[in-house]
Amino acid sequence: MPLTTTYWLEHAWLGTRAEPGVALDVSTTDGRITAVRTGADAPPPGATVLRGFTIPGLANAHSHAFHRALRGTVQVGSGTFWTWREVMYTVAQRLTPETYFALARAVYAEMALAGITAVGEFHYLHHAPGGTPYADPNAMGEALIAAAAEAGVRITLLDTAYLSSGFGAAPERHQLRFSDGTAERWAERASALKDREGVRIGAAIHSVRAVPADQLSTVARWAEERRAPLHVHLSEQTAENEACHAAHGVTPTRLLADHGVLGPRTTGVHNTHMTDADIALVGSTSTGTCMCPTTERDLADGIGPAVALQKAGSPLSLGSDSHAVVDLLEEARAMELNERLRSHVRGHWTAAALLRAATADGHAALGWTDAGTLEAGALADFTTIALDTVRTAGPVPRLAPETAVFAATAADVRHVVVGGRRIVQDGAHVSVPDVARALADSIAALRD
Ligand SMILES: [Zn+2]
Repeated sequence: MPLTTTYWLEHAWLGTRAEPGVALDVSTTDGRITAVRTGADAPPPGATVLRGFTIPGLANAHSHAFHRALRGTVQVGSGTFWTWREVMYTVAQRLTPETYFALARAVYAEMALAGITAVGEFHYLHHAPGGTPYADPNAMGEALIAAAAEAGVRITLLDTAYLSSGFGAAPERHQLRFSDGTAERWAERASALKDREGVRIGAAIHSVRAVPADQLSTVARWAEERRAPLHVHLSEQTAENEACHAAHGVTPTRLLADHGVLGPRTTGVHNTHMTDADIALVGSTSTGTCMCPTTERDLADGIGPAVALQKAGSPLSLGSDSHAVVDLLEEARAMELNERLRSHVRGHWTAAALLRAATADGHAALGWTDAGTLEAGALADFTTIALDTVRTAGPVPRLAPETAVFAATAADVRHVVVGGRRIVQDGAHVSVPDVARALADSIAALRD
């Protein structure tokens, strides 16, 4: 096998600018980019030709794979975040390591088809119903890791501490599967999970509702010792803020800061209902913000202060969270478009800034600091968006192809490469032959 393979990109995104005609050399031994050669008007002999606009692989920084089984069913009738959560718990009760593997394999393959090359799985479904550990206490987490490998995407398994149902309240019946009892026992179980090729292990605090304040620092220290990413759902609901105030007299952000949770390897997911002091705390500690606009609008959460957070120093990433929609391009433009609706002003983020959140900054939030850019030394993960579909055809995309972030959808993703290997070719998944069927079958298996 040759040591280098070459891709020729008709148009490529090089971080700050689009370039026509770029040859990308990739090492077949370590799956990294070895050279980026601009001015390649024609494909070099033997190169694999990728027509369209090639960007670094998209990072889906916040996923709960099993929520995909709820798509559609939770749109019948009305309800709130809290009634949605009841339906979600019913599905969660039916998952086993086997059925979760099948579902996650299909969901991650759906993500691959959407150009996603790395997923941050915020994973809290640890134990059998009733809370009994499996023979391998990490059977569920390992099922997710195996599912990502089959779908060809990188995974950061954000193993989540979930210990209580509210401030000072024991887990409810449905939440017994989530709980290790104490943060110490969570740490013991999570420590058995190991990084490996395509896999990073990180930590998560489900929320300030779900981890007692005096145990927050145990999780933070675990992540600190491993220099691992640490994620936390933060101020998604005003009810959480009110309960935190009642229990501790401070905001959830302040509580996390007081227990050493905030910092540059930490990402707050949503960060929706924040005070000016919260925003300053998140920004000054370089804590990241993961926006999940399609889920936030689906759950009627509100529009988070992403502009102010970024200005204060918080890097932005994007996630499809509940998978009401799996389309990172939609998440990216929704962040800008939501802000336009609120402010009556356009242009809070350029297409370049939106792409950065969806690629380099998203990867960094998941601990993949060596992915998300097309440059020598980076992991060879990239996604090609077709510029000749009904959504993207026209002269403007060819002159400024980055504007595709405002028009293209997941359906326009044509090719996806991870570690130098193609996982999606001409819009079809290479190793999961019928992704729609895999989704239908794995979701049907969870119903009566
Ligand atoms: Zn979430």
